Amino acid sequence: MGHEGSGYEVAGYEATYRRSIESPEAFWGDEAKRIHWHVPPKRILDDSNPPFRKWFVGGETNLCYNAVDRHLDARGDQLALVAVSTETGQTREVTYRALYREVNAFAAVLQRLDVGRGDRVVIYMPNMAEAVFAMLACARIGAVHSVVFGGFAAHNLALRIDDAEPKLLIAADAGSRGGKVIPYKPLVDEACARAAAPPPHVLIVSRGLDPAEPRIAGRDVDYAALRAEVGDADVPVAWLESNEPSYLLYTSGTTGKPKGVQRDVGGYAVAMAQSMETIFDCAPGQVMFSTSDVGWAVGHSYNVYGPLIGGCTSLLYEGLPVNPDPGIWWALCEKYRVRTMFSSPTAIRVLKKSDVGYIRDHDLSPLAWLFLAGEPLDEPTATWINDALGKPVIDNYWQTETGWPAITLMPGLDMKPVKFGSPGLPNLGYRMRVIDEGTGKTVAAGEKGVLVIEPPLPPGCMTTVWRDDQRFLDSYFSHFDELLYSSLDWAIRDEDGYTFILGRTDDVINVAGHRLGTREIEEVVAACPAVAEAAVISVADSLKGQVPIVFATLRDAGADDDARTRAGRDMQRAVDTTLGAVARPARVYIVNALPKTRSGKLLRRSLQALAQGQDPGDLSTLDDPGALDEIRRALARDD
Ligand code: AMP
Repeated sequence: MGHEGSGYEVAGYEATYRRSIESPEAFWGDEAKRIHWHVPPKRILDDSNPPFRKWFVGGETNLCYNAVDRHLDARGDQLALVAVSTETGQTREVTYRALYREVNAFAAVLQRLDVGRGDRVVIYMPNMAEAVFAMLACARIGAVHSVVFGGFAAHNLALRIDDAEPKLLIAADAGSRGGKVIPYKPLVDEACARAAAPPPHVLIVSRGLDPAEPRIAGRDVDYAALRAEVGDADVPVAWLESNEPSYLLYTSGTTGKPKGVQRDVGGYAVAMAQSMETIFDCAPGQVMFSTSDVGWAVGHSYNVYGPLIGGCTSLLYEGLPVNPDPGIWWALCEKYRVRTMFSSPTAIRVLKKSDVGYIRDHDLSPLAWLFLAGEPLDEPTATWINDALGKPVIDNYWQTETGWPAITLMPGLDMKPVKFGSPGLPNLGYRMRVIDEGTGKTVAAGEKGVLVIEPPLPPGCMTTVWRDDQRFLDSYFSHFDELLYSSLDWAIRDEDGYTFILGRTDDVINVAGHRLGTREIEEVVAACPAVAEAAVISVADSLKGQVPIVFATLRDAGADDDARTRAGRDMQRAVDTTLGAVARPARVYIVNALPKTRSGKLLRRSLQALAQGQDPGDLSTLDDPGALDEIRRALARDD
């Protein structure tokens, strides 16, 4: 397959992959030509201080220039962005020329608010066109954006504000879900009140969803007013050295404090440009529809930067997949002639509840591929959507940290057979191994181990944890004697080199493709006044993949059933308001004791195993065997 002139048809996957691993400088030096450089790189790779590495050293470029300005001559009148909202009923069709206008105006507004190169800007908005304008405007002037998922509540927003120390927070007046307006302003106010370093200004982009919310004098600024003032301003591009930070994206780890995944400029741009061809097989002028939220890694890479750097049209969707009916996504695919679609297994499981007619009634002839990422793709879901669409469904494995696919099939390069249950083969530049947790040795084909990436990480992957190099080392590179990036996922590689992902090695869970740390939820639950102690684990869920559940002991050991029910509800509410409804525990079990070792350590792995109906493992250190029996009884009652 592959596009004319790329040369990939000749090389095929194996040879291309081999070259990317054996001659990374030559390989990525060629790949760098896919983007515009104001100053070409002086050196392709500086790997003198592993695992930190620098791609395209000395090169100067800009993400916004590559995503917008560069296309003006050839495709100024082509649609760059189509933002469809079934919540507001509005569709915005934005050409590259119009995108240039809006992004420049937004950049001028940022400058009015004293935002400049290197300053951080937190963006708290749903999937609306202005979220894309805001991100690109930051990139244009060299400000570092950090988009926070709109489903996160005040506590999560405050944590991110304190770590990023933004000069500005940009917020929508409200989001909307299934027709229910969710005002953002009260959450922003609460987050700013909680934050140690609240931003001096909050820029509010109002869609008139929540007009009543009062503004705070001196702090709050309305975007529309400033937009009118700046008019048709042109804002010069800030040329950034390839390794300067472009954006931060916070993600959950094993502690309550999220990690600021930092991305560079040049390496990321090259990864985006390459993957639009090799993986997503979407040529300039073609349409990509990713159903992700802009607040996630997929949203950054394949709703914004990838398709726009590639000169494609990006379709952005705000709303439920079943509203006004479960055919909405396929109607959009038909209307805009979508070639490449990107979604998540959870979304497909939601659609699976409806008739296939909602898919088959549409002319989907331009649609070539459906990519699904973010969580394990189960075979019934894969088979159902594959049959319904009659198109290849490609499982895609990546992490917020990698920023683009790590394991995938590459239809734009050389489409290999799909194997259900496996995302496929390593992406170009990824030196992957599956190793034994104890010995660090590569395991045999078919054996379980930890999936690791040998440095240097390819372009596109995180460069460090924001302002915390040590945490980058500790979180990812300190698990084995050898310097290896641990994905913290279990995996098996088969004889053909296909990798199967078996779940996390740490306390991170995956709810409907959203990554959550069980410790974060535990902290919130344990802070409820009635709670003495809590443990949060995950159980399988037929729709969301996994859901969190809570085991808690109460301070009042003699609490009656009513008090226990109330306490359970309080815990769920606390999680809703502190972290957001995505993290809400599906069930709360009030018990008299949690299983602990004699030294007082909570046996979380045993709890997790019990909840999954598995052997709880070595219990010789268990302090009170009765505690596990009680857990077993509680779980059994639920079945
Ligand atoms: P996130 O950083 O939120 O994208 O979450 C990354 C985690 O999601 C990975 O470490 C995996 O545990 C899981 N994940 C992502 N994609 C897949 C996939 N295709 N198959 C199985 N698990 C996946």
